[in-house]
Amino acid sequence: MDKQTVLRQLPSVDALLRGQTAVTLINQYGRLQTVAALRRVIKESREEILDGAPVPQQETLLTRATAFLAAEAAPSLRPLINGTGVIVHTNLGRAPLSVEAAASVTAVASAYSTLEFDLDSGKRGSRAVHAAALIAQLTGSADAHTVNNNAAAVLLMLTALCDEKEVIISRGQLVEIGGGFRIPDVMAQSGAILIEVGTTNRTHLRDYAAAINENTAAILVAHPSNYKIIGFTTEPSLRELAALAHERGILLLYDQGSGTFLDTAVYGLDPEPTIPDSIGAGADIVTFSGDKLLGGPQAGMLCGDADLIARIKRHPLARAVRADKMALSALLATLQSYANGHALEDIPVWQMISRPLPIIAETAARWAAALRERGMDVEVVDGRSKVGGGSLPGSSLPTKLVAITHADPDAFAAGLRAHDPPLIGRIWNGRFVLDPRTVFADQEEDLLRAVQE
Ligand SMILES: *Cc1c(COP(=O)(O)O)cnc(C)c1O
Repeated sequence: MDKQTVLRQLPSVDALLRGQTAVTLINQYGRLQTVAALRRVIKESREEILDGAPVPQQETLLTRATAFLAAEAAPSLRPLINGTGVIVHTNLGRAPLSVEAAASVTAVASAYSTLEFDLDSGKRGSRAVHAAALIAQLTGSADAHTVNNNAAAVLLMLTALCDEKEVIISRGQLVEIGGGFRIPDVMAQSGAILIEVGTTNRTHLRDYAAAINENTAAILVAHPSNYKIIGFTTEPSLRELAALAHERGILLLYDQGSGTFLDTAVYGLDPEPTIPDSIGAGADIVTFSGDKLLGGPQAGMLCGDADLIARIKRHPLARAVRADKMALSALLATLQSYANGHALEDIPVWQMISRPLPIIAETAARWAAALRERGMDVEVVDGRSKVGGGSLPGSSLPTKLVAITHADPDAFAAGLRAHDPPLIGRIWNGRFVLDPRTVFADQEEDLLRAVQE
């Protein structure tokens, strides 16, 4: 038979559409998508036939179309297993929410809520009230406000308080956080005029003092969240800067980035100033992220002086960067865990930071044994986990890694990324390694299945 005759044996789209399978597919994925998938598998099949393959059964074509439609319908944003040991992984969604925060989001998002409704008066309320009191209480500040993320918090703070005025910043703090957030660019956007003082490694109190004039609105301190300047360095303390600012009648603003309420040094990490420390040192406004060390949703918080917070809230830009109800409910639940003293148990970021090494070692040994049973070449080795997410640069936690030897570790890693759910690990010294620190207990079965398959 010549190829054209063979090709005519391929069923048409119409023929495939007549069967029960097509009805089911149309019901699930819609007519347009189903027809497109059938056209596609028929076209692929024509090409295979021209290459010498036999004519496939109708069933085969339908099975292929079903697989194609299922793959297409899988959302591109979906959960995965983080085996990298990077706790606040910028590319993997930063902080996972606590069970309490996730439950709160589900409850608030799938019903009407008190978002902007005051139950006492029965009148319009404000979304700003929900987290404000708790943030103020936890940070020891007079008032607080929540926006979309910390980048927005910094932009709003500078726009509302420093527009067309000078803002002094140390050359050692002109940082880029990643994702295009550069302090000088944000300053330009806000309308504030950037006045750089000092040098990359050394800035003195007198440098700041000399730059203050009648057009100065503030000193801005940006926390070096993702880099470290070591060696011959100096920066005045927050307390010294606050004293100088207040003596000269200007503000001290602090972009703290990864704000923490808990002491990181307890876990062998570099000490990070806590938000209450910074407020206590005299900062007028402190801004920080909701989804870094705080371990909550994407959000940006501003806390500090009540009059300044009132000005910030009134600014038109505040409306453009407001937090949504899902973020606010998750934030509220996360803050509750700090307030009731259960942060270490409730909040995944802190569970992972505080996970004892023997527990990690036990998990690693269990995975290694299960994989060896399947004939894989696996070893448990010492390694380090990172906090990540632009926090605590150069600081890490001891961990145990499950190291898998594979002829082609890159291909192995790609295969695991293609798994459902995807599993992400690291390649280290030529081996594929998994860090149990960032894997949830209920992901263990999926993880082992992925590696074995
Ligand atoms: C992370 C960070 C930001 C940006 O915060 P987002 O919540 O990612 O918008 C700004 N400043 C500093 C110092 C940071 O560490």
